[in-house]
Amino acid sequence: MNSHIFPGEHVAFIEEFENGRNTYVVDGSIRSSSFGVKVFDYKRRVVKTEKKKGPLTPKIGDIVVGNIDMLFGSMISIKILYINEIFTNAGFSGIASSRVSDSQNSSYHGGSRRDRFDKKSRFSFRVGDLIRGRVYSLLNSSIHIIIDEPDLGTIYSSCYNCGGETIRVGNSRIKCVECNIQEEKKLASDYGIQTIINLADLSRIK
Ligand SMILES: [Zn+2]
Repeated sequence: MNSHIFPGEHVAFIEEFENGRNTYVVDGSIRSSSFGVKVFDYKRRVVKTEKKKGPLTPKIGDIVVGNIDMLFGSMISIKILYINEIFTNAGFSGIASSRVSDSQNSSYHGGSRRDRFDKKSRFSFRVGDLIRGRVYSLLNSSIHIIIDEPDLGTIYSSCYNCGGETIRVGNSRIKCVECNIQEEKKLASDYGIQTIINLADLSRIK
């Protein structure tokens, strides 16, 4: 009934309905051109997609938070859990480059692009790390995310050695409170377990 549909998804056949707003026709199949909910007008025999209101789909400029679910080469895949601090279980995945600049003060717009991409990152990324990023491109239906800004990067990671709680002990260093092992990471400025708790609380209110 009110199930969500994705762009390109089949909505109805042209024998059954006329295509209305936010739909298009391919080989007799009416497809949605946007993320939303399909709405059937049985009287006029028109089907349309009602665009979902609110930040359900990540847009350019949105701040997203999610877990790393895969590492491949110099890229990380992030399963998006929050879009602008609102929880989503729509199952979006974003990709980001793990080659981030060493400088905590670098911004995406400033600095030399070459420096950033020629250097191999000394920061570690692991599956399960909670990452905050900004959507900067939606090219080829992929959600491209940047993480090399002071507020972006890892917001929490459990100890890779014992699974214990970690705390920040430097600009880009965390330490396990259980086994004392340290790790270099690209940390968001508010790194810490409290950030996850705040995020969960905030999203419950919204
Ligand atoms: Zn540990």
